[in-house]
Amino acid sequence: MELNDGSRIAVIGAGPAGSLTTYFLLEIARRKGISFSVDIFERKNFYGFGPKSCNHCGGIISESLIQMLAMEGIILLPNIIQRGVQSYVLHSEGRAVGIQTPSHEKRIASVYRGAGPRGTTEASWSSFDGFLQGMLWEKGVNIIKKRVTSIELKNGYPVVGVDGETHGPYDFLVGAVGVNSRSHRLFKDLLGQPEPETARCYISELPLGREKVSEIIGDSMHVFLMDMPGVEFAAIVPKKEYATVCMLGDITPKVVKHFLQSPEVLELFKADPSMLEKACNCLPKINTRGLRRPYLDRIALVGDCGTTRLYKDGIGAAYRLSKSLAATAVFKGVSAKDFKKGYLPAVNRMRRDNNIGKCIFKTIEIFIAYRFLRLSVLNMVAKEQDNDNVPLHMSTIMWDLFTGSAPYTDIAVRCLHPGFLFRFIWIILTTATALVSKKQG
Ligand SMILES: Cc1cc2nc3c(=O)[nH]c(=O)nc-3n(C[C@H](O)[C@H](O)[C@H](O)COP(=O)(O)OP(=O)(O)OC[C@H]3O[C@@H](n4cnc5c(N)ncnc54)[C@H](O)[C@@H]3O)c2cc1C
Repeated sequence: MELNDGSRIAVIGAGPAGSLTTYFLLEIARRKGISFSVDIFERKNFYGFGPKSCNHCGGIISESLIQMLAMEGIILLPNIIQRGVQSYVLHSEGRAVGIQTPSHEKRIASVYRGAGPRGTTEASWSSFDGFLQGMLWEKGVNIIKKRVTSIELKNGYPVVGVDGETHGPYDFLVGAVGVNSRSHRLFKDLLGQPEPETARCYISELPLGREKVSEIIGDSMHVFLMDMPGVEFAAIVPKKEYATVCMLGDITPKVVKHFLQSPEVLELFKADPSMLEKACNCLPKINTRGLRRPYLDRIALVGDCGTTRLYKDGIGAAYRLSKSLAATAVFKGVSAKDFKKGYLPAVNRMRRDNNIGKCIFKTIEIFIAYRFLRLSVLNMVAKEQDNDNVPLHMSTIMWDLFTGSAPYTDIAVRCLHPGFLFRFIWIILTTATALVSKKQG
C-alpha cells in the first residue's frame, strides 16, 4: 500500500489539519519527484462573515508556529494577523498583573478563522483557514465545496459520497473533520472506535472598534484566574476591531453570565456593560481525549477528530501531526501497519503529554478554589515582573500554560524544580499570614 506518482487522495475538511496535511503530502511528494491528484472536500466558505464561515476558535497562534510555517514555505500574509500580542494580564481578586514575554521572544498573534464575526460587511483582514485553502488552490488541489455524507470501502479503496454522487476510489483518504459536526460518524464504524471525548466551550466577539480595543485591551491577552465551576481557562483576546471572549472547559450559559458580570471583567471594561454586548457568540466543542488508533488501511484521521493538544495550541498540534501523517504516507505507505510505525508514535507522544496536562489543570483548579492560593500565584508573578533579579519561574509557567508554547511535561518538570517550590511555598506562607493578620486587624 504505497503512494506512487499519480495516486489519488481525498481529504475531508479544510481546517488547519486538512489543509496542512494536503500541503505536506504535496510538498513531500514533490521532493521525492512524484505528484498526487488531491480532492479536498470542505462544506464551509471561509470568505463569508458570521458563524457559518468560521471554525470557532480563540485564534491565538504562537510566533514560533508562524516561524515554523514560514520555514515550510507557508508565509502568512500581514492581513491574516489581527494583532501581535506582546504580554498577558492576569486578573484576580480585583488586581491585574502583567506578564511580559519571557526573553522578549515568545510572542503570539491573533487571527480569525472565518472572514469575521456576524454583522461585518467588509473587512481589512483575511481568514486564516481561507488563506490555507487559497494556497492549496494555487497548488492545483481540486477543492470541492460540499459536505461529504458517506464513506465506503470498495475492494479496500475508500469511496466518498456527496449529494448522491460518488468520488473515488482513492488510494488514501484523510479525515480532518474536527469535532464540531456530526461527520465523525462517517468514520465510527470503519474505525470501530468511539468518537473523541469533547467539552463545550464559549466564544463571543465584542464589537468595540479599533480605538477601544487598543485603549481597553491593548496588545495584551487578559486571562482571568477566578473560581468558576468547570472553567479551565477564561480570557479576552484583542483582534483588530473586536475583542474575543474565550472560555475553555465545560461551559454553560450560566457560567458565561457569571464571568461577564464579575468585578474583574467589569473593571476592565470600565464598568460599562454596553461594551460587553456581543456581535456573535457560539458554544463550540473542543477535543479532550483523542482516539487511540486514528487509522486503518488507506484511511487516517488527523487534527481534532483524531488527537490534538489538550485545550491549547490546537493549530500547532494540527501542524505537527499533519506533517507526521504526510511523511508516513509518502515515505512508508498507507497501511495500518505503516501508520502504526510512522504516525502512532507522534499521536502517543501527544496523548501522554495531555495526561500530564490534565493533572496540571486539576492542580490549578484546586489552587483557584482557595483565595489565599490565587493571591499567592498573583503575588509571585508580580514579584518576578517587578524585580529583574528574581527568576521568572511562575511567569514562564503561566506564559507557557496560556499560550501552549511548551509541552505540558516540560511545564510539570519546571513546577517540580526545588527553587520554584521553595519560593512558591514561602510566598504562600507570607500571603496566608498577611491575610490572617488583616482579618484579625
Ligand atoms: C473555544 C475554543 C478556542 C480555541 N482557541 C484556540 C486558539 O486560540 N489557538 C489554537 O491553536 N487552537 C484553538 N482552539 C482549537 C482549534 O480550534 C482546533 O484545534 C483546530 O481548529 C483543529 O483543526 P481541525 O482542522 O482538526 O478541525 P476544524 O478546524 O474543526 O476543521 C474541520 C473542517 O472540516 C469541515 N468538515 C466537517 N465535516 C465535513 C464534511 N462532512 N464534509 C466536508 N467538510 C467537513 C468543517 O467545515 C471544518 O472546516 C480552540 C478551540 C475552541 C473550541
